[in-house]
Amino acid sequence: MKTFVIVYFIGIVIEMAIRAPIRKAQRGDAKSDQRVSTQEKTLLGLLFLAMFFIPLIYAFTNWLDFANYTLPTWAGWLGVAIFAFALFVFWHAHVDLGLNWSPSLEIRQKHELITKGIYRLIRHPMYASQWLWVIAQPLLLQNWVAGFLNLLVFIPFYFLRVKAEEKMMLDTFGEEYKTYMQNTGGVFPKF
Ligand code: SAH
Repeated sequence: MKTFVIVYFIGIVIEMAIRAPIRKAQRGDAKSDQRVSTQEKTLLGLLFLAMFFIPLIYAFTNWLDFANYTLPTWAGWLGVAIFAFALFVFWHAHVDLGLNWSPSLEIRQKHELITKGIYRLIRHPMYASQWLWVIAQPLLLQNWVAGFLNLLVFIPFYFLRVKAEEKMMLDTFGEEYKTYMQNTGGVFPKF
């Protein structure tokens, strides 16, 4: 079981490593639009708690032990496989989106609409990756609180974010984004 907890934290380090160069290259970039609501800030804060802080408490204290459960070993390994796929999709999306990425809803002055790579298949690969992550989390962190809180927070975040993000993209790129929407799926490819 410890192995799966270690895998989880390795995943966090990998995601940070994928984002670090983008954050660095973006420093001081001018924005032409920013749509950050209090609701979104709150949910982003809760996501951080559920993804990082609560798992740390679970791993390093016994405070959450009352909520532990034990799954068969194969379930843990299934979690590792889903998690690895999540990290692959996350990496691919960052390679394709490059400097157009932002943690909250923003349009850069030099924003470019990306429709290549993984974005040719789906509009929201990073959120697809996060869905995989929140599904893998309860298989890796076998605890009702540390395993499931992220999923619970991500569900409302996902629906609010996608709605606001697609509106912003339509306001910015108009017909181009509309056509792009018709040809792609959200988190599942369209066949
Ligand atoms: N929803 C995407 C991107 C998440 S990052 C995904 O899941 O992969 C959020 C930022 O990405 C938004 O602020 C928006 O400015 C930018 N964005 C989203 N889709 C984009 C696209 N196809 N091309 C360029 N920028 C995009």
